[in-house]
Amino acid sequence: MGIKSIGELELAEKKVLIRVDFNVPLNSSAEITDDSRIKAALPTIEHAMKQNAKVILASHLGRPKGKVINEMSLVPVAMRLSELLGTSVHMAPDCVGPEVKNMVDNLGPSEVLLLENLRFHIGEEKNDPEFARELASLCDTYVNDAFATAHRAHASNVGICKHVKDKAAGFLMLRELEYIEKAIGNPERPYAAVIGGAKVSGKLEVLENLVDKVDKMIIGGGMAFTFVKALGQEVGKSLVEEDLLDTAMDIMKKAKSRGVRFYLPVDCVCATEPGTGAKPTIKTIQEIPPTLMGLDIGPATSTLFEEALSDCATIVWNGPMGVFEVDAFASGTLAISNAIASSNALTIVGGGDTDAALDKTSNQDKVDFVSTAGGAFLEMLGGKKLPGVEALRS
Ligand code: AMP
Repeated sequence: MGIKSIGELELAEKKVLIRVDFNVPLNSSAEITDDSRIKAALPTIEHAMKQNAKVILASHLGRPKGKVINEMSLVPVAMRLSELLGTSVHMAPDCVGPEVKNMVDNLGPSEVLLLENLRFHIGEEKNDPEFARELASLCDTYVNDAFATAHRAHASNVGICKHVKDKAAGFLMLRELEYIEKAIGNPERPYAAVIGGAKVSGKLEVLENLVDKVDKMIIGGGMAFTFVKALGQEVGKSLVEEDLLDTAMDIMKKAKSRGVRFYLPVDCVCATEPGTGAKPTIKTIQEIPPTLMGLDIGPATSTLFEEALSDCATIVWNGPMGVFEVDAFASGTLAISNAIASSNALTIVGGGDTDAALDKTSNQDKVDFVSTAGGAFLEMLGGKKLPGVEALRS
């Protein structure tokens, strides 16, 4: 069963509720510090406006857990969205209820109404059927453009689908699905996955799923030390998940049996602790002293990984190669970011921190696709079906 695109729907004069991801970061003065999520939803919103739809936007912001928390109001988003659209956006005092219904009924074609934070209601995250029905009663047509929440079954992305006649994915959601499908479906080869970040435990399913699909698996970040230790190597004070040594070994065995080239760091940047005051030294993986921890891949590893990526036709990257937030331990992540950005491969990057690493190297525009999602991107790469995507099938 396929998923319709918003582009296939007749929207004129219809009340169209679009679930967007406006979960933007705000500073203590309630100013938006990064509006990229709002910008990412513009193509879908502008399409609906051009089609003369009555546009109702719904989103969550932060984790208010069913309570009204003024600091998590979407009012600053309405203001920024008005500027970006060049037209005033109406702000609703709530996301359901008679007053909101009245505002929806008075909405004209091409006008935009932003509902207040969905998570001010406990029913949103609980996927409460009554709350979902109330949301659905606001609209004729439902569109989901919030891929970042698709791994959660909430009222505004799953429950609501049972109560609407017409449903479709927005352009951002479709783009995410298209690129992730390219990576997990039928990728051009050689296909490499570059996986980093703190722990194996956070990415176990992704590692297990990708080792079945890729030609090269490249491991950096803190998680590499669990693999190195599993091979019987001492790694000093580096991050190791002792309970996952066997699992790490199993992943490497599976890689071997499939003929996957499995790359681990050969050297690392070490220090006594990850803080900014730490004095870094470079050690080979075989010679990390008991007093030090590995906090970034070393220069020889960067060269090795760059070399391994140089002939690839598809590259998926998630997770930094080191504690890249601290300059002394950022070089490895920056080198890999540059290698991926300058590659001719289809390059797909996802996960919050990886995104930040790309930003740090101004490489955002040099990869083919940067996912707006963290958890949803990883779960889909891990081979899971996402409830928010499945609910759109008809
Ligand atoms: P994740 O959310 O699992 O992708 O992990 C990202 C975090 O991993 C970042 O905050 C990094 O600082 C951290 N990290 C990367 N490499 C290491 C390392 N060698 N030791 C400790 N933490 C690391």
